[in-house]
Amino acid sequence: MFVTITNCRLGACVAFSLPEVKRIGFVTQERPYAQTLTKLREAGLRPTRQRLALGRLLFDGGDRHVTAEALHDEAQKAGVSVSLATVYNTLHQFTSAGLLREVVVDSARTYFDTNIDDHHHFFFESDGALMDIAGNDVVIGSLPPAPEGMDVARVDVIVRLQGRK
Ligand SMILES: [Zn+2]
Repeated sequence: MFVTITNCRLGACVAFSLPEVKRIGFVTQERPYAQTLTKLREAGLRPTRQRLALGRLLFDGGDRHVTAEALHDEAQKAGVSVSLATVYNTLHQFTSAGLLREVVVDSARTYFDTNIDDHHHFFFESDGALMDIAGNDVVIGSLPPAPEGMDVARVDVIVRLQGRK
């Protein structure tokens, strides 16, 4: 399995192959690509250069909640040349493939969550941050029956926080 990744920045391109991760000295820098590559392949997504680069930013370093705009900024800072539209498309492809969960806080704010386990969220209205709440820390007392022909797929709870007055 050989995938060559080319990273072009300021006219200079560096190309390397993923099997290099096995070599001592390359491990720290490139292992995230290998992890992302495995994730993409398992999800049935072709590992394009942009998917790998964005996947590495998303999945390298624990669970996180990102907006498309924030990920686009991170990509620019990391020297990954990618448009905001591509970031949006990639995030939605990752979500459809089950690698991310979409958390819609309101019509103007959608986050993509790398934690795909059942859980809920605190939302800090002051700065727009999300914090995970373990799934079993929220108990739903009762729900109306789903409309005819429908099943409840999931219940997402967003607890909105404001500073104490
Ligand atoms: Zn979360």
